[in-house]
Amino acid sequence: MDSTLIGEQEIQQLRAATKGTAQKVHFNNAGASLPPDVVVDTVINYLLEEAACGGYETEAKYKQQLDNTYDLVARLINAEKEEIAMVENASTAWMLAFNGIDFKPGDVVLTTEMEYVTNLIGLLNAKKTLGIEFKVILNDEYGNFSLEALEAAISPKTKLIAVTHIPSTAGGMIPVVEIGQIARKHGILYLVDACQSAGQIPVDVKEIGCDMLAVTGRKYLRAPRGTGFLFVRKAVQDQLKLTFIDGSTAASVSEDDFKVRDDARRFELYEKNRALILGLGKAVEYALDIGVDRIWLRIQYLAGLLRNQLENIEGITVHDAGDQQCGIVTFSVKGMDSATVKNLLGEKQINVSVGKAVSTLIYMNKHHLTSIVRASVHYYNTEEEIEFLCDTLKTILK
Ligand SMILES: *Cc1c(COP(=O)(O)O)cnc(C)c1O
Repeated sequence: MDSTLIGEQEIQQLRAATKGTAQKVHFNNAGASLPPDVVVDTVINYLLEEAACGGYETEAKYKQQLDNTYDLVARLINAEKEEIAMVENASTAWMLAFNGIDFKPGDVVLTTEMEYVTNLIGLLNAKKTLGIEFKVILNDEYGNFSLEALEAAISPKTKLIAVTHIPSTAGGMIPVVEIGQIARKHGILYLVDACQSAGQIPVDVKEIGCDMLAVTGRKYLRAPRGTGFLFVRKAVQDQLKLTFIDGSTAASVSEDDFKVRDDARRFELYEKNRALILGLGKAVEYALDIGVDRIWLRIQYLAGLLRNQLENIEGITVHDAGDQQCGIVTFSVKGMDSATVKNLLGEKQINVSVGKAVSTLIYMNKHHLTSIVRASVHYYNTEEEIEFLCDTLKTILK
């Protein structure tokens, strides 16, 4: 693995290859990153070709490149190509996995306080409609997940461990590898929401030991909106019920029976946006070319710098906790609501976002937070941009 730092010159080259960096100081990478120009061109050119030559004809021409997206995604997370399904977003991926599980009344799901709203609703819905229970393993006072508490909560009723690796509205992380060891030791299904992780931090499904993993394209992967994928480990694919079935999810159909495909594409439907899939592949290739380990080093460096500077501004409180922190930096400004801060920064062409309580409800309620300002850094951000953000915040506070 190449763990050399991304140098100044390389950053300038990477920025030059992303038009948006010249327009905006973009710190909303956890919302949607700026895509590289090559990703945008890939999508547009494919659509133009579809319009000029026909959708099916274009698909036939690009068959190999479209198929290659599965190889690239598999490489990104150290999976097999047959374990990848393309879907429109992480919520679909998570729901397909979760709703595929054959829950019985009384089954228990163990989860974290960091779950995204989709996942929380999924758990609540299964509780209501299927009679499952779920138990939230709360982080300790330092913001760290307790592996001891998780292991102590396991019983013969535990059907699934479902965790979010990197939460939407906090800078801490959940120890997915260590949780995976516990899940495997007890033979419990393990579902990971890696929506904010892919493209930010190296993700290795074999190391994590998860059975299912859900990812979106537009966040740290820098892919177009409306892309995502689901990983399902080969050995558990047959255990999951299918929510959607069409002619392409079936390997064969007769007048009185059908057989499903023997790979993860059984979780897809035939009709999909092929231009976007090609764009996702290009974005993954782009990240792999730079090296996700190098991306991760740079993100940690920039996020550390930003947290440090914010902590030194009177009137700003940084909320991130835990020993392991990522590129999502969350804070509040004394006497000002998050939306106002976001709007004032927006006037200076600085993009940040507002994290509302509902996104990560259990965590936010526990900390009595109704909203936070989220400045999420990516590798293409610079020290100068961080300085500009902090200087602007100081002016706002005056
Ligand atoms: C954004 C987000 C999701 C949902 O992703 P979509 O692609 O919008 O469905 C899930 N989990 C986490 C942690 C997220 O931040």
